[in-house]
Amino acid sequence: MDLSYIINHLGENREQYFNAVSPPIMQSSNFTFNNVGQMRQSLKDELNVPFYTRGGNPTITMLRQKIAALEHAEDALVFGSGSAAVSAAVMSQVKAGDHIVCVAKPYSWTNKLLTKLLARFGVTHTFVDGTDTANFAAALQPNTRLIFLESPNTMTFELQDIPAVVALAKQHNCVTVIDNSYSSPIYQNPIRMGVDIVVHSATKYLNGHSDAVIGVLCSSHKIVRHIFEGEYMTLGGIVSPNDAWLLLRGLRTLPIRMKQTSETAAQVVAYLEAHPLVNKVYYPFSPTFPQHDLARRQMSGCSSLFSFELNLPDIAAMERFCNSLQYFLLACSWGGHESLIFPLCVLHTSENYQQTTLPWNFVRMYVGLEDAKTLIQDIGQAFEKAEKG
Ligand SMILES: *Cc1c(COP(=O)(O)O)cnc(C)c1O
Repeated sequence: MDLSYIINHLGENREQYFNAVSPPIMQSSNFTFNNVGQMRQSLKDELNVPFYTRGGNPTITMLRQKIAALEHAEDALVFGSGSAAVSAAVMSQVKAGDHIVCVAKPYSWTNKLLTKLLARFGVTHTFVDGTDTANFAAALQPNTRLIFLESPNTMTFELQDIPAVVALAKQHNCVTVIDNSYSSPIYQNPIRMGVDIVVHSATKYLNGHSDAVIGVLCSSHKIVRHIFEGEYMTLGGIVSPNDAWLLLRGLRTLPIRMKQTSETAAQVVAYLEAHPLVNKVYYPFSPTFPQHDLARRQMSGCSSLFSFELNLPDIAAMERFCNSLQYFLLACSWGGHESLIFPLCVLHTSENYQQTTLPWNFVRMYVGLEDAKTLIQDIGQAFEKAEKG
């Protein structure tokens, strides 16, 4: 389906709401019926017919259609956060006694889902270095049911060879789940590579305006219905109609935001790679990136989140660099209109730091919609202040 059609027209039945160009927010918890027969009929398909908003709501249904089409999936569900989508995807496929193989260094709350929550219910896991597919094969056990991928991850950006892992999973009857937040559906479509379930933190690129926390899950009709009847309705981690509407609006500009931020990021990365105060840049489309060939093969573009290590003498200098930036906000998350920086030295006195092997001179940078020249000048003046002391 054509991208412009998906974003501007799919699922929008304007004659049902006074031909309004922008869809209404259906801010209602429940829906009424003309007679008992109609009510009985609707209850048979709560996934698709509005009955009660925990199950379905027209604003959310419109969004589901667009998200599914963007990921080339048959259907999609929308959740109140990316973590809720990840948890529903994983929990729906395992039971006590099962084993999960997960790529090393996934998103922190995906890690806790496996190590803290599912461990309590008798589901075991093995983390593997995903840069070599052989590590997945070696970690498989007779009770392995699921392989979890995140390609690339969002700190050091290691990739997994998605088609190769999918082939392995199919041989062993394992379900594959991937967190595709980094690339967005614009730059990577794992379902086309055979992955069973794709999840996103829609808080990031999909919504793109840093004003809502949302998650999405894309899969086959069969799997979506299974998750709907289980984790979705039971745990009830739904999105509000209002936030669903914000995501509908965010999607209108997804392709141009991806294009613009990627172009700017490539310029900023080129500047950083040539700068004497930068030791190392982690960016999948950089020719020096160890998995550059794989990145070019399975991603049609590279988004605007990357990391680098600074050649500065101490944490005080790192703090001077970060504090001197005028355009890059000191904040977590990414994917919005605004550029951000997350320095690892933030963690250096916290117990979380013990869990990371990343050094204090490491920063993660997100490039937003600002002008490339402005951002490069900003980094340049911050480098000068960091050096001078
Ligand atoms: C932010 C993030 C999540 C969690 O999403 P929320 O919307 O914050 O719950 C999951 N995966 C990745 C890669 C993320 O960056």
